[in-house]
Amino acid sequence: MLEADLHVHSLFSACGLHTILELLDHGRAIGLKTMAITDHGPGLGEGRLTSVFFERFRSPYPGLTLYKGLELNVLPERGKVDVVWQFMPFIDILLLGIHPNLKPGQSKQFYTDLVVAALENNPFIDILTHPNDTNYPLDYHTVAETAKRLGVALELNNSKVLYRRSTAEEALLLIQACKEVGCRMAVNSDTHALLELGGDESVRPLFGKAGFPMEMVVNRNAEAASAFIESRRELKRAAVQSRP
Ligand SMILES: [Zn+2]
Ligand SMILES: [Zn+2]
Repeated sequence: MLEADLHVHSLFSACGLHTILELLDHGRAIGLKTMAITDHGPGLGEGRLTSVFFERFRSPYPGLTLYKGLELNVLPERGKVDVVWQFMPFIDILLLGIHPNLKPGQSKQFYTDLVVAALENNPFIDILTHPNDTNYPLDYHTVAETAKRLGVALELNNSKVLYRRSTAEEALLLIQACKEVGCRMAVNSDTHALLELGGDESVRPLFGKAGFPMEMVVNRNAEAASAFIESRRELKRAAVQSRP
């Protein structure tokens, strides 16, 4: 089980089932030390994000560190993501993923170009989620080289393998590309339903299988996760100051 789960959806995502308090309660019960709430950005055209969460909510549990984030969407316009500037001053972590706002069935080159442009144009993104989603194929080496240059971690996503949106073999190819390039990774549950919280059972053995160095996993423990998030805070501050 993870100590630091940096990819969790609440009821504020249309696909999430639980309130933030339910997620925190369960996280505390199972011994999670760090949780990032990362609901979907507005580009999916669904869900209900509220500034009250970002500006005013405080976790009632001192033993469980809460980080506030979003899982942004790659938009069809080259280099664009659905950042919410109003929330940016309060955001700790930003994920980015390809989701059904992009139509599936395009080439590997097409999705790779979009992802590379989105990462390069938005240096405040911290983690690229589920690059091994087989609906949106990516060139792992190209994406890993871009991510390494920008300090972004590529995610090993427990839910995608658990619910067969990807395979262990495909996840292994992603890890091997990161190892060859020297790109850092994250491992997250992508929780939508409560019992998924902190889960890494479907993918954690793959790190050993690939011989991936665990010191390259940014959330290998709670301390490493906090250090990663703090090391990237300035990028968000700078983005707010030079907001287009
Ligand atoms: Zn996602
Ligand atoms: Zn997600």
